[in-house]
Amino acid sequence: ILEARGIAKSFGQLPVLKGIDLALTAGEVVSIIGPSGSGKSTFIRCMNMLERPDAGEIRFRGRRVGARFADHGAEIGQGTLRRHVGMVFQHFNLFPHRTVLQNVTEGPTVVLGQSQKEAEAVAMDYLAQVGLADKRDAWPAQLSGGQKQRVAIARALAMQPDALLLDEVTSALDPELVGEVLGVVRRLADQGMTMAIVTHEISFAAEVSDRVVFMEGGVIAAEGSPQEICREPRHERLKAFLARFN
Ligand code: ATP
Ligand code: MG
Repeated sequence: ILEARGIAKSFGQLPVLKGIDLALTAGEVVSIIGPSGSGKSTFIRCMNMLERPDAGEIRFRGRRVGARFADHGAEIGQGTLRRHVGMVFQHFNLFPHRTVLQNVTEGPTVVLGQSQKEAEAVAMDYLAQVGLADKRDAWPAQLSGGQKQRVAIARALAMQPDALLLDEVTSALDPELVGEVLGVVRRLADQGMTMAIVTHEISFAAEVSDRVVFMEGGVIAAEGSPQEICREPRHERLKAFLARFN
């Protein structure tokens, strides 16, 4: 349902993505691993058009995502793309002056036009799913990192996205808080949510993914099943990369 074709991107003189192709089919979980600076975040941001590729295209349900914000003939606008494809970042980006509940209802009321009441009911469902129904009236500053990240996930889910893009959602967390967030992501995978997950949690990637992609130097250097990529790697630099985690 979400496809990247030939994505290239440079920052000034620095080529960061050198032609990436990746298609996510409905219900599929794809993890993206690779060394720091290999272009993982830049690529996943391109998938949501938060970063504008220099070359290549993003397609959502077969329609090309255009440069403009509005839908236009055969193209869909970036607004439509982002309404259907949610993103969760390393640094939660919660609205600090809104309560947990308000953080989750903001998008559905403003973007989807849900009534406050309807949005709150939906929000409470998702907050319950991430185990935070009792924190509805808390402020972000009163939450632990793991709780903040679970609110950020509930907020993304409340938009009822067709796919979710996760960029290192556990790497800013204290080690003891990583598990609760990975648990939420694992349940989403079990429920059939379509996801692309950038992560340094290799064993988690191996466990939840249908496919694992190894990025290096702005290209996909290896790609395959978790078994092929994480457990029996053949690619030399992939082997060297994985060896750091053992
Ligand atoms: P990490 O594992 O550390 O998150 P990454 O694989 O996500 O790394 P990117 O963040 O995509 O890597 O960065 C790839 C390269 O692009 C890096 O060399 C980075 O310095 C550069 N880069 C990223 N964003 C920008 C930007 N906005 N302006 C200039 N250079 C950038
Ligand atoms: Mg990154």
